[in-house]
This record gives sequence, structure tokens and C-alpha cells, in this order.
Amino acid sequence: MTRNKGKILYVLLSINIVPLFIFGILILLFGSHWFSLAMNQEVETELKNVSQNLITTIDTVYPGDYRLVGDSSYQLYKGDADITCEYSLIDAVKANTGMEVTLFYQDTRILTTITNAEGARIIGSAAPEAVVSNVLDSGQPHFFSKALIYNTPYFSYYAPLFNSDGSTVGMLFVGKTTAEVDAAIQKSVKPLIVAVIIMIFVISLFISLYFRKFVAELLQIRSFLGQVATGNLDTTISPALLKRNDELGEISHSALDMQHSLHVLIEQDALTSLYNRRSGNKKLQQIMTSSFKYHNNFCIAIGDIDFFKKVNDTYGHDCGDLVLKNVAAVLKQSMHGHGVAVRWGGEEFLLIFENMDEEQSYNLLEELLNNIRAMENEYGSHSIKVTMTFGLVAGTTQNITELLCIADNKLYFGKENGRNRIVR
Ligand code: GH3
Ligand code: MG
Ligand code: MG
Repeated sequence: MTRNKGKILYVLLSINIVPLFIFGILILLFGSHWFSLAMNQEVETELKNVSQNLITTIDTVYPGDYRLVGDSSYQLYKGDADITCEYSLIDAVKANTGMEVTLFYQDTRILTTITNAEGARIIGSAAPEAVVSNVLDSGQPHFFSKALIYNTPYFSYYAPLFNSDGSTVGMLFVGKTTAEVDAAIQKSVKPLIVAVIIMIFVISLFISLYFRKFVAELLQIRSFLGQVATGNLDTTISPALLKRNDELGEISHSALDMQHSLHVLIEQDALTSLYNRRSGNKKLQQIMTSSFKYHNNFCIAIGDIDFFKKVNDTYGHDCGDLVLKNVAAVLKQSMHGHGVAVRWGGEEFLLIFENMDEEQSYNLLEELLNNIRAMENEYGSHSIKVTMTFGLVAGTTQNITELLCIADNKLYFGKENGRNRIVR
């Protein structure tokens, strides 16, 4: 079966990182827009404040009304003072705030800090149409975000100037070039953009690393289950996975439990919980190989319950099962620490004595047989006793079939010669 490698990783990454990027882009777009608006607002307030302060200063320094004297030359008086060439105030404002200032008499520039390409102040020129109608005619101040003055766009604040009779006599312009304001906005927005981009990349990196690790561990579990599925019950699962105290850790433990259950199902006999014939054969092969390798003794015995059919026939199959379980329990207990007991089939058992010579095996077997003989199998009101016959053989050959055959023959000999004994 071909498997789709890493599909979960791509899904996890795309459903997390794509929205993160979209979210980041939206933050940048809305953030920049909001920031520009806020900056515009701030510039407007700044222009307004400077304008109001300047009007107050002019009124304080030169009290009285504005009046234009003469027809052809522009001579502007404020009160008794001729302010036509009084640049000191507006130049000081420009020097302190960087803002351009123009004082209009009606719509005509009388005093200004703005210069043309040749560096001459643009006095005598007229205010744009829109300014005249929005400020001069209405008598209301007005803010323009892109007023063109000699082809240069300005953030402009125009405040009307009044004489003491309340008539609008002129305007005061305070402005900053749009380019200057935009540059200030960009200067402030740039770190925000960089911070958001770095943040998105760092979060993406963490998400990516976390999911990669997560999926790698998931793949480890898949690999473990794959091994178990193909019958490799000796495969191991990473201890790091078992240590996790989350769902992956739980799945790993369940997978391990499943492996153990399969082990039991495949290797144990269901009735007696002894090794079954299949795993018994495997055990015998292992013990035999290691005994020959390390020059250790070992013996095997095949045992069979005597007249077992009679137990079944007399007391029923359930009683037979009970006797089998009791016999198995004695075999298991007696062989504990000495070797292995296997249900070889029906009421026949294989015993493998590890690191024991024939004499030692015989003695243990005799003790074991005595325990069987002494055992009372209580079934209802009946107490049933059984005996067994064993064929014992020392592991002198590496040929399992031959060894089992010799043991079998000895068992048969025992059956033929009175049962309830050990033939060696
Ligand atoms: P012998 O002394 O010659 O071994 O006589 P036996 O009666 O023990 O031998 P036989 O081979 O004639 O009968 C064995 C019986 O064991 C037959 C079978 O029904 C019974 N048996 C095999 N497996 C089981 C089992 O799992 N449960 C029960 N209750 N009986 C079983
Ligand atoms: Mg029998
Ligand atoms: Mg038998």
C-alpha cells in the first residue's frame, strides 16, 4: 500500500501559517492606514495650534486692524505698524517648526516663507480657488490634506483673519509639504512593518518546528504500528513517546499494550496461560542455540497426563479443563527459575530445563511429578487425582526433531510400562 507521506504536516501548516500571513497582511494594511489617519490628525492639530498661536502673537505685537495702503504696491498695516516686510515672526515660526507660513490680505499673499525656484518669496500671488471659497468667503478655518502651492502639495491649515468689526480681512496659512509628512509617516510605520514581518516569521517558524516534531512523532507511532501489523512483535517504541503526557503519549501506550496483547494472544495458550506450541518451539530453538553457543547444559521432557480421557468421560469436559489448568499451574510453578513449561498439545506438555544437566533435571522433574500426584482437583463433590508420564532427554544434539522424537519415544515407553513415571 502506498501511503501519503506528510499530508498531515502540510494540512497543519497551511491551516495555521496561511491565516497567519493573511492576518499579518491585514494588520499591516489596516495598521498603516490607521497610522496615516492618526498622523494626519496630529499634523492638522499641530498646524492649527501653530496658526492660533501665531495669530495671537501678531495681534499682541501689532494691535489693531489690518488695512492695505496704496493701490499698486502692497503695503499692509496692522494697527499703526507697517508689517509688509515684517518677516521676523513668520521666519521664526518656520525656523522653530519647519512649517511654511503665509499671511494673506484677502486672497493675496503679503507675507510668506514659501519661495519659488529662484529663492524669491512668492508674494503678491493669489490663493487657490478652493481656499477662497472655503475660508475667505465662509469665514471658517479649513484643513486641506493636499493643497497645491506652486505645484507642491501641502498639508495646509487656513485660518480666517478678522478685523475688529468682524469682517474677514485675510487668511493665515500654515503648512507642511505632503512629502515631509509622508516621510515622517513612513519613518514611523517602517519599524511597525518590520516588527510585524519578523513576528509573523518567528511565529511561523515556531509553528512549523512544533508541527514537524509532532508529525515526526506521529510517524514514529505509525512505523511502530506498521511493524506490529507485519508481525514484528519484538519491535520497540521510542521511550520519549511513552513519556509524553498528552494524547500522543496515550496512543503510544495503547499501541504498546496492543503489542503486548498480541504477544500474549499469539504466544500463550488460552486455557492454561502456558507458552503454546508455536512459541514453545521458538523458545526451544533459542535455548538450544544459546546453550550450544555458551556450552551450557539443557534438557527437555515431554509429559502426558495418564488416562486423561477417563477424566473427561467420567466428569465431563469442563472437569477435564480444570485438571489441565491445575496441572499447568503446577508445571509453571515448578519450572519457575529453571526453564520453561509449554502446552505441547491436548494433555501433553513440553518442559525445557535451562542450564541443567540430566541429573538435576530428573530431580526437579521427580519433585514436580510428586506435586502432580499429590494434587487434589476439586470438581463439585469430586476430588480427582491424576498422574503423568514423562520422557526426559539431555540436549546433546542440535537437531530439535531428533531430540523431540527421543523424548516422545521415552514417553511412549513409559506409557507402555505402567505410566506414572519418568523415563530417562
Ligand atoms: P494415556 O494415558 O494413554 O495418555 O491415555 P489418555 O486417555 O490420556 O489418552 P488419549 O490420547 O486417549 O486421550 C486424551 C484425551 O485428552 C482426549 C481428548 O479429548 C482430551 N483432551 C485433549 N485436549 C483437551 C482439552 O483441552 N480439554 C479437555 N477437557 N480434554 C482434552
Ligand atoms: Mg494421556
Ligand atoms: Mg496424549
